Amino acid sequence: SKDKIAAASDADQVLSVHEDPCEPCDSLSASLARHIRYGLCRDEHEQHELFNAVAHSVKEQMLDNWRQTRIKDNQYQQKQVAYLSLEFLMGRALGNALLSLDMTNDAQQVLIDYATSLEELEQVEQDAGLGNGGLGRLAACFLDSCASLDLPVTGYGIRYQYGMFAQKIVDGYQVERPDRWLRHGNPWEVRIANRIVSVPFFGHTETYVDKQGHRHHVWADTQNVLAVPYDMPIPGFKNGRINTLRLWKAEANDEFDLAEFNEGDYAEAVATKNLAEQITMVLYPNDSSVNGKELRLRQQYFLSSASLQDLLARYVSQFGEDFSQFSEHNVLQLNDTHPSIAVPELMRLLLDKYSLTWDAAWAITRQSMAYTNHTLLPEALERWSVPMMKNMLPRIIEIIFEINARYLEQVAHHWPGDIQKLASMSIVEEGPEQHIRMAYLAIVASFSVNGVAGLHTQLLKQGLFNDFYQLWPDKFNNKTNGVTPRRWLAHCNPKLSSLICRRLGDEWINDLSRLTALNAFTNDKAFVKEWAQIKIENKQALSTFVKQQCDVDFDPTMMFDVQVKRIHEYKRQLLNILHVIHLYRRILNGDTQDMVPRCVLIGGKAAPGYAMAKQIIKLANNVAHMVNSDPLVTPFLRMAFLPNYNVSAMEKICPGTDLSEQISTAGKEASGTGNMKFMMNGALTIGTLDGANIEMLEEVGDDNFFLFGLDANQVTQARIHYQPQQIVEHSKALSGVMSMLKSGHFNLVEPGIFDDIIASIIDPNDQWMTAADFDSYYLAQEQVAKTYLDQDSWQKISIRNTAASGRFSSDNTIAGYRDEIWMKQ
Ligand code: PLP
Repeated sequence: SKDKIAAASDADQVLSVHEDPCEPCDSLSASLARHIRYGLCRDEHEQHELFNAVAHSVKEQMLDNWRQTRIKDNQYQQKQVAYLSLEFLMGRALGNALLSLDMTNDAQQVLIDYATSLEELEQVEQDAGLGNGGLGRLAACFLDSCASLDLPVTGYGIRYQYGMFAQKIVDGYQVERPDRWLRHGNPWEVRIANRIVSVPFFGHTETYVDKQGHRHHVWADTQNVLAVPYDMPIPGFKNGRINTLRLWKAEANDEFDLAEFNEGDYAEAVATKNLAEQITMVLYPNDSSVNGKELRLRQQYFLSSASLQDLLARYVSQFGEDFSQFSEHNVLQLNDTHPSIAVPELMRLLLDKYSLTWDAAWAITRQSMAYTNHTLLPEALERWSVPMMKNMLPRIIEIIFEINARYLEQVAHHWPGDIQKLASMSIVEEGPEQHIRMAYLAIVASFSVNGVAGLHTQLLKQGLFNDFYQLWPDKFNNKTNGVTPRRWLAHCNPKLSSLICRRLGDEWINDLSRLTALNAFTNDKAFVKEWAQIKIENKQALSTFVKQQCDVDFDPTMMFDVQVKRIHEYKRQLLNILHVIHLYRRILNGDTQDMVPRCVLIGGKAAPGYAMAKQIIKLANNVAHMVNSDPLVTPFLRMAFLPNYNVSAMEKICPGTDLSEQISTAGKEASGTGNMKFMMNGALTIGTLDGANIEMLEEVGDDNFFLFGLDANQVTQARIHYQPQQIVEHSKALSGVMSMLKSGHFNLVEPGIFDDIIASIIDPNDQWMTAADFDSYYLAQEQVAKTYLDQDSWQKISIRNTAASGRFSSDNTIAGYRDEIWMKQ
């Protein structure tokens, strides 16, 4: 497979022009021996040093193909895609790289000589946690699929020195610790010194008219920060393509505040250097809400400007400064509005650096930008203060105002005389302080606007972006999210993967629709037995992990009921906890008939400033403590809160889960991707009609899915006259749960700490409608228990879930982006 790309005739030509004096790459074993002998310089080494040596050796195996891929792509035979994202939640790379390179067995053999196992060594790798949750992990799955589909896609992101914080639980409370993921170095990255660019900030703008009467704009007296690219290889699955994730690090320009240096203030000069380098210091830890800090805007502009300068330089080196074909050869996919400042930045570069006319620059911009929306939640819609932008990015704000003026002419033309429309659709929001609505900027400048699941896209068209949909219906399209089956089945669940391979061959790994063939085995007793046995073994492994992390004993003969995701009110971890309290009460009351023994696992990080989410974590921990410390309860119910949920934890969790909790308030979860990972690994889902749950239900059928709760329309209706107090009074189950909560049973030594939570449930303005769905939820949970008692039936449903998960391969999603967005324009 290594030769596949080398065989491309043009790439061959390039190689033959430059005589290649290199020997072919060493075998993994020789390469590792060399790295250990000449890289470590000592005979003894720590486990992380051995890991680094192994990672360097594996990277070495990719370098020739990485080079060939680059040479081929620089010829622009195919349209090049830049995926711009402030987040890439990559997790660990070793296991996935070995799988893609078909070197897992090789590595296992080689490591025997070093008295360690591959499995053990994989655990040493730090997660690359450069993202918050779904959006960042989606970007990572997409990169894997793009490479595996042989698409020339480059990921552009930020090399945060500190990624997503590490979560500790102390006395039941979340405590945040910095994530020093680069402490031992990052063996996968390569610093690319000859692609450094300079990004301007601050200063002011000037205009002048040249001899021909043309107006020119100059952004003067800027403070420039260097953007240094660090490249990470993204191997395609056994196809020889190695794509690139280019992460930018901020470094101080040598000239940065040279004046101060010359005046002898050496320390001041070094301090300003730190200011420049702050830009890529830390990932903002908010998921589904804005990070309104000035430094965050600096990160966004830094990423956008550096990536565009990189793209344009590459284009110019192939085509010169004739940009008429730029959009034929390039497309930029914006992962949410975070990098949407790329719109005015592309305009600026084309206008000011390459002297294009406004109309020419705008045509190119409009034809190369595509925007993905990830949420309807108002608190997540980015708006940047105009005064702040004027100060930080004076030329950029001028361009935004000009884009807006020209676009509002179109609005006025479409809705003549409608002043209200002009105000509500303007990119500039008026008020005591003006703000730039970044989503509007992205929509106006993009040829494609997509949502991430059917319902989500429909709600965008009908609600949030309805005006824009009326103006440009053809821009809007849906691309339901997906997850990569390499990491999320083949790699994370080797036992199930091997069983599937024995029955179906291994083509499913890059054609997941083939899993439907598993439906033929639901009556094959030996198969069903083996399927169940694998789940038990995966549950044993998960129990060991839970024991290590939480010191709680999970019994693999009990049902594993799991909800792991960011903690957010809309995701309703609270509803789950209320159900645990309901079961706990039943057990205390001796009502255990038909009860299936369960282990409930909840995990996820709360944004550090999100008080309610942090209280929910505390409640989960306190309920878990009460449940686990009563020996009358633990035969039926156990509960743990898993600290520091991240990608590598999910790789252990989803293979060992029986029941997946996807219980968000309908209309609030854009898609979800955790839901798909569980389904792929044979978990059954209890869920609402929200996000991609709807499409999962469609695929698997309602006999194989535990549906409950109000749908999105019903939620909207019910909100009008919502009386949760009455709902509580009418529900015996919920009133019992509420009185136990109010009694202080779970916080005897910390009175009052759950008052806000209790109040939120009975608040008529509770947007999340926890009380409204409670009865429907616990009744659906009773159906779950009933089904679980019939293990044969449960296992068949489990098989059907995996069999129906093919649609949720990110290969499928990316094929949609390729055919309907990237190659369409
Ligand atoms: N965080 C991590 C570490 C994940 O692996 C995932 C998805 O699997 C998510 C967040 C997103 O989960 P959800 O779609 O359930 O919100």
